Amino acid sequence: MTLALGRPTPLLAQAADAWFDGIADPVEQALTVLRWAGDTFGDDFAITSSMGDGLLAHLAGTAVPGVHVVFLDTGYHFAETIGTRDWITGVLPVTLVNVVPERTVAEQDAELGPRLFERDPDRCCALRKVQPLARALEGYLAWGSGVRRDESPSRAGTRVVDWDAKREMVKVNPLAAWTQDDVDGYVARHQVPVNPLVELGYASIGCAPCTRPVAPGEDPRAGRWAGRGKTECGIHS
Ligand code: SF4
Repeated sequence: MTLALGRPTPLLAQAADAWFDGIADPVEQALTVLRWAGDTFGDDFAITSSMGDGLLAHLAGTAVPGVHVVFLDTGYHFAETIGTRDWITGVLPVTLVNVVPERTVAEQDAELGPRLFERDPDRCCALRKVQPLARALEGYLAWGSGVRRDESPSRAGTRVVDWDAKREMVKVNPLAAWTQDDVDGYVARHQVPVNPLVELGYASIGCAPCTRPVAPGEDPRAGRWAGRGKTECGIHS
């Protein structure tokens, strides 16, 4: 499917979403959307990964070999997450784009006081995730994320292809329609690298100070910013 080449527009995103949303098989849908993004935007397309697993990177590397994988290296990640980043980008045909905030954690502590993540997690996420991602994506026309509808109520309306009005880019969510069973099946079939913290009950993995494991049957994202009334870091809204 070729809808247009060149600058992204809301109309392009809407038309592509209507087209791809009808593909029933989740793997075929994800690969088709990723191939379209690669064909349409070329090197101006990148995906992001939190390195909870290599699922999206595996699919993107299959559909668009060499695709850029943006990782927000906040300075607060678990050692296992950094190891998973190096594992994924070492074995899959993708190109790591490691993005760091303007200030190190030590510099932020000196300027704003220690443990900003406890006192003002929205500001901490803005400084260490949202603003760095905005700068990193300035060089692209379209980006992709691994957001799924079944992860939380706030993600239930996720489109396969969407218009990111804040950044004026096309945003693709190739895993939007995937279930946990779809994820587990693909990961097992293709031996996709998975962050070892998943085995320890970390169903959704972010920065270490803001992530805890969840109990069986608990909302997968309940372990993120638990008890702080926050559910999203802001990069998907
Ligand atoms: Fe800061 Fe926590 Fe957000 Fe990471 S997830 S940027 S530590 S508030």
